[in-house]
Amino acid sequence: MNIIFQEKIQELENDIPVDAVLSVAITGYGVNIKGHVKTDLKLICDRCLGEYDYNVDVEVDEDFVNESIVSGEQKEYELTKGQFVEELRGRDEIDINDFLYQTIILEIPPKKICNDSCEGSEAYQKIKNEKYIDERLEVFKSFSENNYSDDENK
Ligand SMILES: [Zn+2]
Repeated sequence: MNIIFQEKIQELENDIPVDAVLSVAITGYGVNIKGHVKTDLKLICDRCLGEYDYNVDVEVDEDFVNESIVSGEQKEYELTKGQFVEELRGRDEIDINDFLYQTIILEIPPKKICNDSCEGSEAYQKIKNEKYIDERLEVFKSFSENNYSDDENK
């Protein structure tokens, strides 16, 4: 079964549709969903706190496993790299909205930077500069202290 999904997912709060082309197949162990998911997310930059667009463009390949079948006759289940598995646990429906939401949320980077050359907000700069100056001052401080004690020993 092929699914063409072009709807907004409210929880993503990006106000544009998620574009997905999925093929859903019944397998020996449950259901497999394969396809392509695209959307743009609105993220907040960790440095400048500005909102920016983050393009999500991801290939999915996820197996939904019917637990009873796997734990019964088929004890071994081979996974290929990048494959995701979720147990159906007796469910007979897969929520495509939720599936897409989870897929997209996983794509959000741990460090959100709007642009590699982002200078950050004034507050961010201040913290960065203060830290930098402090480190330099520490070096000068110990340097001059050493000189001073050298003079004293003369
Ligand atoms: Zn930024």
